[in-house]
Amino acid sequence: MWLSWSWPGPRGESRLMDLRKAMHTSALDVLSQAHGAENPSTVDVAGLVSDTREYVTALNDLLKQAGPAKFTYQGFLILNPLRLPDSVLGKVLDAVAYMVSLFKGRGVEPLLHEGLNAIQIGWLIGAAGYYHAQDKTIAFDASTSASGSTMLKNFVHEVLVHEFGHYVHMTYLSPAGKESWESGWEYVDQARSAVEERVFVTSQDRHRFFGMIERSGWSPARAGKGLKGLDRLKYLMWLYKTQGNPVTSTPQQVRLTDYGRDVFSFFANPDRYRSEFAEANGPEKAERMMERRERTYKGNLGLTSYYDGKNYPLLDEDTVGEIRSSDSTVDDALDALGIPTTYGRTNVKEDFAETFVLFMVNPSALSEQARLRMGRALWLSGFTGKPVMRLSALRVASRWAARTAGLLEPPPHGAGQADFRGRGSLFAPTTTPSLRGRYRQFPELGPSLPCST
Ligand SMILES: [Zn+2]
Repeated sequence: MWLSWSWPGPRGESRLMDLRKAMHTSALDVLSQAHGAENPSTVDVAGLVSDTREYVTALNDLLKQAGPAKFTYQGFLILNPLRLPDSVLGKVLDAVAYMVSLFKGRGVEPLLHEGLNAIQIGWLIGAAGYYHAQDKTIAFDASTSASGSTMLKNFVHEVLVHEFGHYVHMTYLSPAGKESWESGWEYVDQARSAVEERVFVTSQDRHRFFGMIERSGWSPARAGKGLKGLDRLKYLMWLYKTQGNPVTSTPQQVRLTDYGRDVFSFFANPDRYRSEFAEANGPEKAERMMERRERTYKGNLGLTSYYDGKNYPLLDEDTVGEIRSSDSTVDDALDALGIPTTYGRTNVKEDFAETFVLFMVNPSALSEQARLRMGRALWLSGFTGKPVMRLSALRVASRWAARTAGLLEPPPHGAGQADFRGRGSLFAPTTTPSLRGRYRQFPELGPSLPCST
């Protein structure tokens, strides 16, 4: 069972599965013959025997291919708990070798060993890889194939470098480097929250609407008369889709439900409720009941402190779609970042991981913005591998970063390769100990970062 489930994976059609099915059919055939037979020796079992043989042979062939469960390769632990065969191991080892030579070529190989202990191969759901910060492990999905890449020729290579990019972002970057990277996304976040405010009823909206109702003498219908356009839609949606969902009004116009009438008459005539409660439960209890009732009603309307800062409810689907499609501010803000792939536009983390891949492999393929942003974030973190420094864009970025951040003296004008080489590689003593001492820190390990690549 384990074998047929694992090999060649839950997603592929397996020859073993086919053989098993054939064997099963033959067995049923034998059983049905035997059922009506007077003499069991007349039952033809040749088909079942040959199907079983074929199945066992295929099974043994597969077992011979079973890969080791655990071994090391180029200093990394390769975990293969499902004993997947060489065809799977081969692509992973190839990608490891690729990463090692890539980092070596950039003079930052120690970084690779610092951020990565192991690669665990298995079947992942909805992702080609994950980086687990706690045990510095990349989980790799065995079904990932070399094709279908967005940046590199080999997608398996891309996945591993991308996952390692998450380590660099979350753990390696110094606080200054991280802040520098994340500052690029401020405009995206601003644009996103501005759209959120348009498609959701904000806490501010809700308090404003409630104030209007109060001033109207507790008549939601009267209060809603002056509202137009988007504001009116929000008002109606607020009364219709309250928190916890006891509907107070119909969606198209202000027509209170029984519950809604109760809510607003409570605010309009608290004394009536108080005396009703007192009559039934005594004056002391009545006060507590009043408080509880007010909290419930205000909670339903999203007015208690619990809902402060929360945007709720969402406008209807059509309106939301219309607002989103007519608003290009988020896209514009993302465009300005020069992110290399669509996937990188998901969030600040995927942006880093995707940009990191090209920065390491082929920085000239990056947009100028992305190259500068990455160069600056890494430079502020003391990422001074020699060959990386050969990249002119990074030299520009580091000079600029030094000037704007005011942390270090800028490198002398006309500083060439030799100057940067003089700084040493990542973990060698450096000519700028102040930078290393102050900024090269390792923040606490974060949680694992799921991502589809
Ligand atoms: Zn990712």
